Parts: sequence; C-alpha cells; structure tokens
Amino acid sequence: MEKLYSPTTIKTVTNKYDFHMSKSLGQNFLVDGNIVNKIIEGSEIGEEDLVLEIGPGMGVLTAAAAEKAAKVIAVELDHRLIPVLEDTLKDYDNITIHQGDIMKTDLRALISEAKKEPKPFSAVKIIGNLPYYITTPILMKLLEEDARDYAYSITVMVQKEVAERMRAVPGGKIYGALSVAVQYYCEVELLAIVPKEVFFPKPKVDSAVLRLILRKEPPVSLLSEEMFFRVVRAGFGQRRKTLLNSLSAGIDVGKEVVTACLAEADIDPTRRAETLNMNEFACLANVFTKKGISAQRPRGEKGVDESENGME
Ligand code: SAM
Repeated sequence: MEKLYSPTTIKTVTNKYDFHMSKSLGQNFLVDGNIVNKIIEGSEIGEEDLVLEIGPGMGVLTAAAAEKAAKVIAVELDHRLIPVLEDTLKDYDNITIHQGDIMKTDLRALISEAKKEPKPFSAVKIIGNLPYYITTPILMKLLEEDARDYAYSITVMVQKEVAERMRAVPGGKIYGALSVAVQYYCEVELLAIVPKEVFFPKPKVDSAVLRLILRKEPPVSLLSEEMFFRVVRAGFGQRRKTLLNSLSAGIDVGKEVVTACLAEADIDPTRRAETLNMNEFACLANVFTKKGISAQRPRGEKGVDESENGME
C-alpha cells in the first residue's frame, strides 16, 4: 500500500469499503506527510511511551505513532472505520483500536488497562487531529478530568481560531475563559499553522498544531480550584459588563460583597474580565473563598467550552 496519507490510498480505501466521509463527524483526513511528521515529532514520542490517539480516521497518525511508541491506543467513534483501520494498520502489533465516543470513554480506565502490560511505559502522550465540531469539549474533558495525573502532553491539530483563543493573553477580544483554563492546566506552544489544503476533504478554515504540556503544579496558588473556575466563568459569562456586574450576576452574591472582594484583591470594579491576568483571577478567587462564598456551580451555568468566548 502507498503511504497512508496519500490521496490515492484514501481513494482506494474509500472505494474498497464504500466509505463516505461524514461531515458531521468532522472527518477531514490528513493528506500531507510533512504535517503528519510535524504532529508526531512535536509530540516527542519515545520508544517506551504509550500514545493515546483521539479520532484515528484511516490511521495516518496512528501508524506514524506506532513506529515510534511502545504502544498506541486509538479511540474512534465511527464504527465504519474499524474494519478500515484493521486493514490499514495490519502490519502493526502495538496498536489497539477502541470503538467509542471519546467524550464518553473512561480514559483513565483505558490507560490503566494498557499499563497492565509487563513492561512499564515511561510516559503517556495524547495526540490527535481533532474533529472540529467538539475540539473544545474534548480538550476540556481531558483537562477537567485531570489528564495531568496520567499524561505528559497533548499534541493536537485544532482550528487556527481555537488555537489562537487558547494562547490568547489578557487585553484582547479573544482572551476568555478557554484561554485561562487551558493556560492554567498547560504550557501552550504553537508548533505550526496548517493550511486547509492538507486535508481531504478541504475544510473552510486553516488549522494549527498545538503542544500542551500538562502542568504537574498549577501556575497560581489557589485555596479552591472550583472557586477559581467559578470566578473565571462568571467574569467572562457577561464579558462586556464590568467585573462588579458580571461577578454579582454570575456568582449570585450581592454587589456589596463583590465590591468588598474586589477591593481586597486590589482590582478596580469597573474593569472587565478580559483585562485580568491569571494571578488576578487567582487572588480574587482566594478572597471569595476566604469569605466563605460557595464555589458550587449553579445548575445550568455554562461551561468554559459553551461560554460566550468558548463557542466553536
Ligand atoms: N486522524 C485522522 C487524520 O488525521 O487523517 C482523522 C482526523 S479527523 C479530523 C477526526 C476523526 O475523529 C474522524 O476519524 C472522526 O470519525 C473521529 N471522531 C469524531 N468524533 C469523535 C468522537 N466523539 N470520539 C472519537 N472519535 C471521533
């Protein structure tokens, strides 16, 4: 078989299996070897590593990862791709394909199962050319479900615009809850901007390869992580309002309390959330915690990925 990323291979495979790509599953397959290398080299896979791949598609990244890693586990939702993957990856004995929805998969269990193998892995590296329709929810699942406990890094292709929001710094329109959350959990590095021409079918927008190194220690000192995210979500929930207004609405406490907390954190109440850096959010959250304000998220409150600045 020709290289897996070659358009000819994709055509041969789609004909053989009468496979029609699903737009709703975000199936834009990579057809450029340089970009495959960029992701694989960027993820710094070592020969004793365990790789978890999200959405293997026809297996281009899976095969390249299997060449370098001790083992690869790939989670693919589309059951039609399972026989395809069994065919395209038949020369590898270190790949396990798991059919399922990454959002519903117990990744910790999957990794623990793999770790039962006699030889220990030195690190777990997560990779993927993510389906664009759930990029942010996938990353937030990994981060909020503490992938930092079991994985070293996440090297992924995402839409360029999402990558920009994840890397954004305070002061601009694209800085939001997603930026703070991703930067809280990870060191974010942009490895490449990727033109839409390297995918088949060609999507509407360009993409980017990001490497997220999961922090073992948070970059700020928090009394309550839950409170920190509550403050971040509340602040950006109504990002055009002043912090005094957005926080009193989002945290559901009186304006007097918010005014006192802002004063104690030395933050001007007329500022907006988009001007606060991570240290300021942390300081403010710690003041709220010290005052005994509940960190619990009210029913129906939007998540980081659904908030105004987190929409796909
Ligand atoms: N890795 C392949 C490549 O680079 O050519 C395919 C990438 S394609 C952008 C995204 C892949 O994710 C598709 O194979 C799609 O079927 C799969 N996918 C979509 N939603 C998924 C989900 N919820 N869980 C797991 N895989 C999913």
